[in-house]
Amino acid sequence: MTDQTPMIKQYREIKSQHKDAILFFRLGDFYEMFYDDAELGSRELGLTLTGRGISENRMPMCGIPFHAAENYIGKLVEKGYKVAICEQVEDPKLAKGLVKRDVIKIYTPGTIIGTSMLTDKTNNYLLVVSFEKGKFGLAYTDASTGEFKVTEIDTLKDLLDEINRIKPSEILLSDMIDEKRNREPCLPAGRVHSQVPSIRIESYKDKYDQSEAEEKLSKFFKIKSLASFGIENYSVGLSAAAAALDYLEDNQKTALGHINKITPYAIGQYMLIDAQTRRNLELVQSIKDKSLKGALLWVLDRCETNMGSRLLRNWLLMPLMEIDKINARFDAIDELIGDTILKAELTQRLKNLYDIERLTSKIATEQGNAKDIVSLNESLKEIPFFKTLTSKCKSKMLKHVNDLPELLELKELINKAIKIDPPFTIKEGGIINDSYDNELDELRKIAYGGKSWIAELENKERIASGIKSLKVGFNKVFGYYIEVTTANLSQVPANYIRKQTLTNCERYITPDLKEKESLILNADERIKELEYKIFCDVREKAAGFTKELQYIAEILSQLDVLISLAQVAQENNYCRPLISGSTDILITGSRHPVVEKMLGNHNFVKNDILMNNESSFLLITGPNMAGKSTYMRQTALICLLAQMGSFVPADNAILPLIDKIFTRIGAMDDIYSGQSTFMLEMTETANILNNATENSLIILDEIGRGTATFDGMSIAAAVAEFINNNIKAKTLFATHYHEITQLAEKHKGMKNLNIQIKEEGDQITFLHKIVEGSADRSYGIQVARLAGLPNDVISRAKEIYTTLEMVENDLGFDHRSNVPVINA
Ligand code: ATP
Repeated sequence: MTDQTPMIKQYREIKSQHKDAILFFRLGDFYEMFYDDAELGSRELGLTLTGRGISENRMPMCGIPFHAAENYIGKLVEKGYKVAICEQVEDPKLAKGLVKRDVIKIYTPGTIIGTSMLTDKTNNYLLVVSFEKGKFGLAYTDASTGEFKVTEIDTLKDLLDEINRIKPSEILLSDMIDEKRNREPCLPAGRVHSQVPSIRIESYKDKYDQSEAEEKLSKFFKIKSLASFGIENYSVGLSAAAAALDYLEDNQKTALGHINKITPYAIGQYMLIDAQTRRNLELVQSIKDKSLKGALLWVLDRCETNMGSRLLRNWLLMPLMEIDKINARFDAIDELIGDTILKAELTQRLKNLYDIERLTSKIATEQGNAKDIVSLNESLKEIPFFKTLTSKCKSKMLKHVNDLPELLELKELINKAIKIDPPFTIKEGGIINDSYDNELDELRKIAYGGKSWIAELENKERIASGIKSLKVGFNKVFGYYIEVTTANLSQVPANYIRKQTLTNCERYITPDLKEKESLILNADERIKELEYKIFCDVREKAAGFTKELQYIAEILSQLDVLISLAQVAQENNYCRPLISGSTDILITGSRHPVVEKMLGNHNFVKNDILMNNESSFLLITGPNMAGKSTYMRQTALICLLAQMGSFVPADNAILPLIDKIFTRIGAMDDIYSGQSTFMLEMTETANILNNATENSLIILDEIGRGTATFDGMSIAAAVAEFINNNIKAKTLFATHYHEITQLAEKHKGMKNLNIQIKEEGDQITFLHKIVEGSADRSYGIQVARLAGLPNDVISRAKEIYTTLEMVENDLGFDHRSNVPVINA
């Protein structure tokens, strides 16, 4: 094969239309990669690079067996590549000349539907950002579940936060978002990368104005007006949505019937948790090693189904702002906790469910196999049990379970048509039940008749010829044959026709045998074709139930999440919070849900918290390691848990509706965004001061630590005053600058708290108990001793500490009391 062959010409033509993808070119039982793709493929997949042709025309190539392709495609897609699958698109038997080939599908990280490349417990989103008249349009969709959402966003900061919450696998940015074209704002891909690393980001040519986008969407959803989705007034959002559909259609090249609605949302509809806060509060992964263990989700996720786990994650990242909706979740959890037998029985039933949400998508996009259809049916069979179990339930969300449709027609169809344990392949037969289709039954009879004739032939011929070792066999090249060993050749009957000579035997055929053979092979071939056709027909009929199936998936995922939350609440003694409508926070016996799990429930010291007009700004001091961060974070987590509809780790909790949670915790360099520790700290603080409202909750842990003491202390004090006097957001402010505690004496709303320790000589014990008043020391040297610093270093530190104390006294102020900058 050289540059001149028709095959390579065909390859080049197809490749020229898919320059940005690695082309998997089907040749026989292999997918081959050529030229640059081959070099890349061999490097990324560890394949041996071979070549065809000679000297300068030598063409690098490497290949993989087609049946193992999914695994290799998965690896490339995970690394952010696009993979285009090029297949033969006509029957080679009917082809004149070179068989036609074409790209039948393109795999990209954000458009995968039904393969093992997906992660079970997380969504896989494609996100598109458009830009027009200073506004961003954002659309995101999970092709594996059919979810499709759209919103519009005013600021770059909100956009980045939203991208960070959604954590897409792939992003398309409109070419209108171009620094050169738009001075402000712009969204360089690098900026997104620093927020959400390791995602594929591509620029697309924005070709939609509002009316074109409307037309595209109306056509896709087969509706007259977008008003039925409530998105008719979105302008820039619609063009992002239209571009998302284009991209999916171009890559999937199949029906996308499971994407049957688009839901508009506003970012203010949910509690706003920005990227830092999500990370600092360790909602879905720990800071330490980015694992699930140690994150809030680790404690909460006891879901039995993957679709439940995905929904729980979404609830956690999008806490509600509507009291009715929150209470509906509380009511259901309450009812489940009140009836542990019901909860246990529902849990057992959930264990029998498959991922209905993703199965539905696979079926609707013609990607499901017979096993998927059987799994769907097995899940549908559980619905009557769910309905009976919830028939007496009182809460609204559990009643929805009782109202689920049973889809009897679909169940009956699958029961009748599809075998209980079908193969994974859909073109090799073995899928359709007997008595479902007359023609199939007839063909099976023919094939069966022929096969049993052949099965009897061996015995018959042995008796007739007297050759005891005579055998009847089959291979792909010669079909059925009669085999006689060399020693018995003299006894071979005259009607045998010799076909093949091997070392120790000869193989023969007879006219009768060949006649039966063609009957069987024809029938087998036609059976496979017919079974495939019937299967596709059943799958299409099942796809007709997509909306109902998605509804069932939604309600059962909700049930799974509610049971998970009820289970966690019960095992860990959580209470039902009251979202009061007032702005006060009153929590008694509060705990940190993750730390208490790590320490064991009985080792965690409970604390109360009261934040009202008199104490909306809490200044927390106390030794290192006393538990300041834990106390502040648990307050934020309790507010967040409550608004996602979960019970909370406390004895009692009365809470307001919080619109945004902000945290500024610790020091962390972000070298990717080119910011130093202190710069980052100040940028985050500026963001809080610019965006917090009086309904927000702010956690400030150690502010102003990244610079010289007086600068830091001055900034910390000014920030505290500004929040307390101007923003009036509920704030927990931990600091080792003990001087700052004096602010509480001057400003209404500020209050000092500290964490108790027991001091015996040079030894300290942490009591973790919050009390009113301020601490006067940090006990840093004692904590350093506990951490194992050498004794010499500890004694020297003490000497230096004493000297510093004397210097400060000589200068006229004590490091534990008045500091000029604050008194000024
Ligand atoms: P630093 O000032 O050094 O940042 P800190 O006061 O913020 O310290 P934390 O990080 O909150 O201290 O807590 C230190 C450790 O103390 C935690 O990891 C936890 O193991 C334990 N701890 C904190 N609060 C409690 C509590 N209420 N009950 C039991 N153990 C606790």
